Amino acid sequence: MRTALLLDRDGVINVDRGYVSEIAAFEWRDGVFDMLAKAQERGHLLVIVTNQSGIGRGYYTSDDFERLTGWMLEQLADRGIDIARVYHCPFHPEAVVERYRAAHPWRKPEPGMLLQAAQDLGLDLGRSIMIGDQWTDMQAGHAAGVGRLLLVGEPKASPPPGLDGVVRLPDVKAAASWLNAAAIDPP
Ligand SMILES: [Mg+2]
Repeated sequence: MRTALLLDRDGVINVDRGYVSEIAAFEWRDGVFDMLAKAQERGHLLVIVTNQSGIGRGYYTSDDFERLTGWMLEQLADRGIDIARVYHCPFHPEAVVERYRAAHPWRKPEPGMLLQAAQDLGLDLGRSIMIGDQWTDMQAGHAAGVGRLLLVGEPKASPPPGLDGVVRLPDVKAAASWLNAAAIDPP
Protein backbone atom coordinates (compact mmCIF):
# COMPACT_ATOMS: atom_id res chain seq x y z
CA MET A 1 0.00 0.00 0.00
CA ARG A 2 1.09 3.54 -0.73
CA THR A 3 1.31 6.41 1.68
CA ALA A 4 0.28 9.99 0.96
CA LEU A 5 0.83 13.53 2.02
CA LEU A 6 -2.77 14.76 2.05
CA LEU A 7 -2.85 18.50 1.61
CA ASP A 8 -5.35 21.20 2.26
CA ARG A 9 -5.01 23.86 -0.47
CA ASP A 10 -5.77 27.38 0.78
CA GLY A 11 -3.30 28.30 3.51
CA VAL A 12 -0.97 25.40 2.70
CA ILE A 13 -0.25 25.46 -1.02
CA ASN A 14 -1.32 29.04 -1.62
CA VAL A 15 -1.90 32.02 0.63
CA ASP A 16 -5.49 31.93 1.92
CA ARG A 17 -7.06 35.16 0.67
CA GLY A 18 -10.58 33.72 0.98
CA TYR A 19 -12.26 31.99 -1.96
CA VAL A 20 -9.28 32.08 -4.30
CA SER A 21 -10.55 31.29 -7.80
CA GLU A 22 -8.24 33.12 -10.20
CA ILE A 23 -4.61 32.71 -11.17
CA ALA A 24 -3.98 36.38 -10.38
CA ALA A 25 -5.02 35.78 -6.75
CA PHE A 26 -3.06 32.56 -6.35
CA GLU A 27 0.14 33.19 -4.40
CA TRP A 28 2.31 30.19 -3.60
CA ARG A 29 3.23 29.85 0.05
CA ASP A 30 6.92 30.10 0.87
CA GLY A 31 8.54 26.67 1.01
CA VAL A 32 5.69 24.78 -0.65
CA PHE A 33 7.73 23.48 -3.61
CA ASP A 34 10.44 22.27 -1.26
CA MET A 35 7.86 20.59 0.99
CA LEU A 36 6.15 18.80 -1.91
CA ALA A 37 9.45 17.70 -3.46
CA LYS A 38 10.62 16.27 -0.14
CA ALA A 39 7.40 14.36 0.44
CA GLN A 40 7.59 12.99 -3.09
CA GLU A 41 11.23 11.93 -2.60
CA ARG A 42 10.18 10.04 0.50
CA GLY A 43 7.71 8.07 -1.59
CA HIS A 44 4.47 9.74 -0.55
CA LEU A 45 1.76 10.33 -3.13
CA LEU A 46 0.62 13.95 -3.11
CA VAL A 47 -3.15 14.37 -2.77
CA ILE A 48 -5.04 17.65 -2.43
CA VAL A 49 -8.28 17.67 -0.42
CA THR A 50 -9.95 21.07 -0.53
CA ASN A 51 -13.32 22.42 0.57
CA GLN A 52 -14.60 24.66 -2.21
CA SER A 53 -17.88 25.97 -0.84
CA GLY A 54 -17.27 29.09 -2.98
CA ILE A 55 -18.77 27.04 -5.82
CA GLY A 56 -21.92 26.28 -3.85
CA ARG A 57 -22.07 29.86 -2.60
CA GLY A 58 -22.01 31.07 -6.21
CA TYR A 59 -18.76 33.04 -5.86
CA TYR A 60 -17.19 31.11 -8.74
CA THR A 61 -18.02 28.06 -10.86
CA SER A 62 -16.71 24.52 -11.13
CA ASP A 63 -15.15 25.56 -14.44
CA ASP A 64 -13.27 28.36 -12.70
CA PHE A 65 -12.02 25.88 -10.12
CA GLU A 66 -10.94 23.38 -12.80
CA ARG A 67 -9.15 26.11 -14.76
CA LEU A 68 -7.18 27.24 -11.71
CA THR A 69 -6.44 23.63 -10.76
CA GLY A 70 -5.16 22.85 -14.25
CA TRP A 71 -2.83 25.83 -14.12
CA MET A 72 -1.64 24.91 -10.61
CA LEU A 73 -0.88 21.32 -11.66
CA GLU A 74 1.08 22.54 -14.70
CA GLN A 75 3.13 24.90 -12.55
CA LEU A 76 3.93 22.05 -10.18
CA ALA A 77 4.72 19.61 -13.00
CA ASP A 78 7.20 22.15 -14.39
CA ARG A 79 9.01 21.82 -11.06
CA GLY A 80 8.97 18.02 -11.15
CA ILE A 81 6.09 17.73 -8.69
CA ASP A 82 3.32 15.29 -9.55
CA ILE A 83 -0.02 15.60 -7.74
CA ALA A 84 -1.71 12.19 -7.78
CA ARG A 85 -5.27 13.49 -7.37
CA VAL A 86 -7.23 16.60 -6.42
CA TYR A 87 -10.48 16.21 -4.47
CA HIS A 88 -12.76 19.16 -3.86
CA CYS A 89 -16.09 19.61 -2.14
CA PRO A 90 -18.39 22.30 -3.58
CA PHE A 91 -21.20 21.56 -1.11
CA HIS A 92 -22.34 23.68 1.81
CA PRO A 93 -25.54 23.48 3.91
CA GLU A 94 -26.35 27.10 3.03
CA ALA A 95 -25.22 27.10 -0.59
CA VAL A 96 -27.17 29.39 -2.91
CA VAL A 97 -26.63 26.98 -5.80
CA GLU A 98 -29.35 24.47 -5.05
CA ARG A 99 -27.61 21.29 -6.23
CA TYR A 100 -24.74 22.02 -3.83
CA ARG A 101 -26.94 22.81 -0.82
CA ALA A 102 -26.25 19.89 1.50
CA ALA A 103 -24.24 18.78 4.50
CA HIS A 104 -21.95 16.57 2.47
CA PRO A 105 -19.69 13.81 3.84
CA TRP A 106 -16.82 15.18 1.74
CA ARG A 107 -16.85 18.60 3.42
CA LYS A 108 -14.13 18.83 6.04
CA PRO A 109 -14.24 18.32 9.05
CA GLU A 110 -15.91 15.19 7.65
CA PRO A 111 -13.35 12.66 6.35
CA GLY A 112 -15.09 11.75 3.05
CA MET A 113 -12.46 13.11 0.65
CA LEU A 114 -9.66 11.36 2.51
CA LEU A 115 -11.51 8.06 2.62
CA GLN A 116 -12.28 8.31 -1.09
CA ALA A 117 -8.59 9.00 -1.81
CA ALA A 118 -7.60 5.97 0.24
CA GLN A 119 -10.00 3.81 -1.75
CA ASP A 120 -9.03 5.23 -5.15
CA LEU A 121 -5.29 5.16 -4.61
CA GLY A 122 -4.88 2.23 -2.22
CA LEU A 123 -3.52 4.36 0.61
CA ASP A 124 -2.42 3.23 4.03
CA LEU A 125 -3.85 6.20 5.93
CA GLY A 126 -2.26 5.12 9.20
CA ARG A 127 1.15 5.73 7.64
CA SER A 128 0.06 8.86 5.79
CA ILE A 129 0.26 12.53 6.75
CA MET A 130 -2.42 15.25 6.66
CA ILE A 131 -1.33 18.88 6.53
CA GLY A 132 -3.68 21.82 6.91
CA ASP A 133 -4.03 25.28 8.39
CA GLN A 134 -7.37 24.81 10.20
CA TRP A 135 -8.59 22.49 12.92
CA THR A 136 -11.23 21.17 10.53
CA ASP A 137 -8.37 19.71 8.45
CA MET A 138 -7.06 17.97 11.55
CA GLN A 139 -10.53 16.68 12.45
CA ALA A 140 -10.93 15.21 8.95
CA GLY A 141 -7.51 13.58 9.17
CA HIS A 142 -8.19 12.22 12.63
CA ALA A 143 -11.60 10.83 11.65
CA ALA A 144 -10.06 9.11 8.61
CA GLY A 145 -7.34 7.53 10.75
CA VAL A 146 -4.42 9.46 9.24
CA GLY A 147 -1.33 8.66 11.29
CA ARG A 148 0.26 12.08 11.42
CA LEU A 149 -1.49 15.41 11.55
CA LEU A 150 0.38 18.65 10.81
CA LEU A 151 -1.14 22.05 11.51
CA VAL A 152 0.65 25.09 10.09
CA GLY A 153 0.17 28.62 11.38
CA GLU A 154 -2.47 29.94 13.73
CA PRO A 155 -5.99 28.71 12.93
CA LYS A 156 -8.95 31.03 13.33
CA ALA A 157 -10.84 28.67 15.65
CA SER A 158 -9.71 27.26 18.98
CA PRO A 159 -8.67 23.59 19.18
CA PRO A 160 -11.46 21.03 19.46
CA PRO A 161 -11.00 18.22 22.00
CA GLY A 162 -9.39 14.91 21.12
CA LEU A 163 -6.62 16.16 18.84
CA ASP A 164 -3.67 15.97 21.22
CA GLY A 165 -1.40 14.32 18.66
CA VAL A 166 -1.42 17.25 16.25
CA VAL A 167 2.04 18.63 15.40
CA ARG A 168 2.00 22.45 15.38
CA LEU A 169 4.36 24.18 12.99
CA PRO A 170 4.69 27.92 12.38
CA ASP A 171 4.59 27.79 8.59
CA VAL A 172 5.03 25.73 5.43
CA LYS A 173 8.82 26.19 5.47
CA ALA A 174 8.88 24.52 8.87
CA ALA A 175 6.74 21.71 7.49
CA ALA A 176 9.32 21.15 4.75
CA SER A 177 12.04 20.76 7.40
CA TRP A 178 9.81 18.51 9.47
CA LEU A 179 9.16 16.25 6.47
CA ASN A 180 12.88 15.92 5.98
CA ALA A 181 13.45 14.74 9.55
CA ALA A 182 13.75 11.11 10.56
CA ALA A 183 10.82 11.60 12.94
CA ILE A 184 8.32 10.88 10.20
CA ASP A 185 9.51 7.37 9.43
CA PRO A 186 6.65 4.96 10.11
CA PRO A 187 6.77 3.28 13.54
MG1 LIG B 1 -6.98 25.97 4.57
